[in-house]
Amino acid sequence: INKRSVNTLKSTCCYCGVGCGVVINKEKNGSITLEGDKDYPVNKGMLCSKGLNLHYTANDKTDRLLYPQMRYNKSMPMQRVSWDDALERTAAVFKTFINKYGPDSVAFYASGQCLTEEYYVVNKLMKGFIGSNNIDTNSRLCMSSAVVAYKVALGEDSVPLCYDDIELADCFYVTGANPAWCHPILWRRVEAHKAANPDVKIIVVDPRATDTCSIADLHLQLNPGTDITLNHAIGRVLIENGDIDVDFVTKHADGFEQYSKIVFERTLAESARICGVSESNIRLAARYIGEAKGFISMWTMGLNQSSVGVNKNLSLINLNLITGHIGKPGSGPLSLTGQPNAMGGREVGGLANLLPAHRNLANPLHREEVQKFWGGTQIAAKPGLTATEMFEALNDGRLKAIWIMCTNPLTSLPNVRLAEEALKKAKFVVVQEISNKPETLAYADVILPAAAWAEKEGTMTNSERRISYLNKVLDPPGEAIPDSEIICRFAKKMGYKGFDYKNAAEIYAEHAKLTAKTNIDISGLTYDIIKQQGSVQWPYKKRNVTIGTPRLFTDKKFYTETGNAHISAVPDTLTSEIPDEDFPFILTTGRIRDQWHTMSKTGKVNKLNQHIKQSFMEINPLDAIELNIQDGDVTIIKSRRGEVNVKAKISAAIKQGVVFVPMHWGKILNNDLHRINNVTNDAVDPISKEPDFKYCAVSVQKY
Ligand code: SF4
Repeated sequence: INKRSVNTLKSTCCYCGVGCGVVINKEKNGSITLEGDKDYPVNKGMLCSKGLNLHYTANDKTDRLLYPQMRYNKSMPMQRVSWDDALERTAAVFKTFINKYGPDSVAFYASGQCLTEEYYVVNKLMKGFIGSNNIDTNSRLCMSSAVVAYKVALGEDSVPLCYDDIELADCFYVTGANPAWCHPILWRRVEAHKAANPDVKIIVVDPRATDTCSIADLHLQLNPGTDITLNHAIGRVLIENGDIDVDFVTKHADGFEQYSKIVFERTLAESARICGVSESNIRLAARYIGEAKGFISMWTMGLNQSSVGVNKNLSLINLNLITGHIGKPGSGPLSLTGQPNAMGGREVGGLANLLPAHRNLANPLHREEVQKFWGGTQIAAKPGLTATEMFEALNDGRLKAIWIMCTNPLTSLPNVRLAEEALKKAKFVVVQEISNKPETLAYADVILPAAAWAEKEGTMTNSERRISYLNKVLDPPGEAIPDSEIICRFAKKMGYKGFDYKNAAEIYAEHAKLTAKTNIDISGLTYDIIKQQGSVQWPYKKRNVTIGTPRLFTDKKFYTETGNAHISAVPDTLTSEIPDEDFPFILTTGRIRDQWHTMSKTGKVNKLNQHIKQSFMEINPLDAIELNIQDGDVTIIKSRRGEVNVKAKISAAIKQGVVFVPMHWGKILNNDLHRINNVTNDAVDPISKEPDFKYCAVSVQKY
């Protein structure tokens, strides 16, 4: 607590995975203002446009859900009911389905925006008591490819470095990311570092010339989907130039021999042609990396959201491994988490194939260990349904009931019209939400009002493994209560023991205890310590022994069975939907600077809406001429799955043959023609099950 005032409390921004600290001032009239926390190590007082306007979102209660609602059949209107009635009915319906069709007939679809404590209880409820692993979150759409790649390369889902490594690095390779818009405060640190040290090299890899390119020494404007080809080509040149850390690859890594074979399968000229970049620029990128004393690779959805997302990630991490740039100052692969607490969710095992503290669902000993700890039912060995699989299962009737918590799948899922059909067919839908806007509400049988950011306490973990404490500053409106309390009350209605927590601190303490002796051990980290210090990086094993762990693998011992890192000889293949005569363009989607995901929070703020007021399609001028499209013309973008109508924005910043549309807009007044996920492909990576949002074949024409 800031000593200036009892009404001044600290928290963490609830948008992106950078995890900036904020100071919230509660005014006499009950509203809040806020500023960046100057003492917070991540942002040192800075906030981006979204963070700076968080208080507008928190103060505006006009769209908030205020009380539980329910209807007995889909043709009836929603009616206000008590919490007891809503949860008793939900429990009765869940029990009926579980008894009749088994525990796999129900599912929870949650969010990377849930607090760690919320994630923990819903995961415990589903896996440990209902007895199904059908709990997945929208992190599946975001980071799951990076999770798998970290596991393969390093033995565990562990970001090895910290943000303070930025100021120690002299080469950055930023690929499949636009951090200037999507992780702005982290990027401000890179910009400041470059301004103070002009010799620092920045390589940006992106089919679009984004704002991130404005400080790049080299922009590799590759053809979409050719990331593995490019990374392999750079690896090849690094080997040719002798810029390999021989000691590291021989003593601390496996797989270099196979890797060096695969990267020589293509000539450099062939790779350059496939990627659409010059040989000389590939050589230059390799030279910058090869000469670096500290090398950081940074990436996000451009690599993750792909039907070969895991392989793209591995091909990138390989560049750090072959050059030995890991576990030392200013070096390492840094995945930029999309959501504020996707990392915390993974820590508690909040995906359909995980168990708490990064334990492995496939390992019977791990299942037994967790089951004993929870004291519930036997944990099923079969992985649960992932995000897109849940909606497929609703469509074909395998899944009867779904509980959607803190996420808006009818804007954010790929091939979303299919997901909408699935919700129509669902026998029972529970929507746990803060806002009355999401499209999912139209399909709900029960609506549960949740407390929002600043209305509840809890913890989150950012992209550098930093656990932070979020204070409760405001009372939730109406009868809204924290998500963890909703889940615990429901668990008790189901008759389960072990959900009698007095507060979030008790849930956290249980989670922390379950991490003991694992690689993410925070058993020594109490709520009091986090509150006192504001934030701490895991692992944190014993109280008062360390302030946390900024950097992993400094001893070059990895979490794999051999103790070595693994260099993967990943095949250079692309399995995306390739353009053809009918659908000749490649569509790629992403975020804009001032909106967050499906806009249920940022869309309430006038200032943020001024930046870009409506959806658009970015198209290259040569393509626009060919299609007789002028700037501002309404266009029709079609794929095999659906279509949208958005205005054209002609820009030389995008490659010919590629169009870009933001992912934020959903239905507007029941019209879904701004919702780009009508068009996107629900093909997924076979291992991570992350969808291919960044590549599908479309046609474009003037409206
Ligand atoms: Fe919030 Fe991310 Fe902006 Fe920081 S960079 S203020 S965490 S949205």
